[in-house]
Amino acid sequence: MYRKRQLLCDGVDLTALAEEQGTPLYVYSADQILHRFSLFADAFTQPHTVCYSVKANSALAILRLLAEQGAGFDIVSGGELERVRRASKAALKRVVFSGVGKQVWEIDAALKAEILIFNVESEAELALLAERAEALGKQARFALRVNPDVFADTHPYISTGLREHKFGIDIGLARAIYRKAARSRWLDPAGVSVHIGSQIRAVEPFAAALERVLALIGELKRDGLDIRYVDVGGGLGIEYGAAAFDPAEQVKSYAAALTAASGLHLLLEPGRFIVAQAGGLLTRVLYVKKNGAKTFVITDAGMNDLIRPSLYQAHHEILPVRQGTATEQVVDVVGPVCESGDFFARDRKLPKVKPGELMVLLDAGAYGMSLSSNYNTRVRPAEVLVEGSAARLIRRRETMKDLFVAEILD
Ligand SMILES: *Cc1c(COP(=O)(O)O)cnc(C)c1O
Repeated sequence: MYRKRQLLCDGVDLTALAEEQGTPLYVYSADQILHRFSLFADAFTQPHTVCYSVKANSALAILRLLAEQGAGFDIVSGGELERVRRASKAALKRVVFSGVGKQVWEIDAALKAEILIFNVESEAELALLAERAEALGKQARFALRVNPDVFADTHPYISTGLREHKFGIDIGLARAIYRKAARSRWLDPAGVSVHIGSQIRAVEPFAAALERVLALIGELKRDGLDIRYVDVGGGLGIEYGAAAFDPAEQVKSYAAALTAASGLHLLLEPGRFIVAQAGGLLTRVLYVKKNGAKTFVITDAGMNDLIRPSLYQAHHEILPVRQGTATEQVVDVVGPVCESGDFFARDRKLPKVKPGELMVLLDAGAYGMSLSSNYNTRVRPAEVLVEGSAARLIRRRETMKDLFVAEILD
């Protein structure tokens, strides 16, 4: 929102914030995150737990914000388990642990933390889970992550629900594995889980996957198993373009597509949907240059700070912080990193900007900072959480010293 031609994040003026904290800077709205989270409680009437997917944005302050609202967490590593512990010990019992390559130390840490459930992705992992549960004297609740062989129309890198993908267990093989597992006193077959991919806009693929999962659960119940949880994964998409988007409606139709799961406790694992549109990346224009017919706007943020355009050809809307009356021009917005893939926008019509001016890459709250790196030996950005009219630094900008702490020279 602009006020007096200056872009604001809730009550905070972004020009002042950039002066104070420097750029590039991730800025998140706490109100927006909490609003998105609340939409699930509004739309789902059956018993459910929203297990926010930590990998979308794993800032401790954001995890704590959500934990205080009763959120659970979907984790994919021992590191993310430690993040949940640091953000909120009370939330550990609402953790679901996904991931195709869990290691012994990660399984042990999760068993000791008494998390809610393991989403197991192979028979070998299930055998290891039983072994570690016995060694630690803990019973492990688990769900098999089944692969429903459902096609979801999204970028191939973030589509996961087809048999050819590395994720999950072929749904046709699941029943036999559950029956075998039920004989172990160290394993509690408590649920079935599925996750078909990310940035899925239509709700039909979720319904199709659930239908197959419920058919399996019916069989398992007839086999005498006490299945209480159905985990439908994450993946609910957002609108990255300029088109109108009604998130409340989106969650409502998502909930409507999942009503067949009644009688079970529903686990939901949204990541992007909660945080993407709550965050922006604030960056300053360094140079504007012409090469042949092209005009390049070079920013102080690069692909190491926000890799989505480079990795997924993702679109992010870009706004100048000072609302221009300036004429528009077609430009490429690029970072300083030494790769031609280091771009934020190509052939995009934007108001003319000058060196020194600020711009915001919108909808950068998910898979932005969490996918950032030190490539080109660049420090990673700082992060700020806006709460009403106050801005709180939740991660300081890295320093030159941080870049070298782990390195060993003679
Ligand atoms: C990445 C992931 C999610 C979250 O996906 P979003 O598209 O961010 O909602 C949920 N569950 C699992 C298992 C994942 O790998």
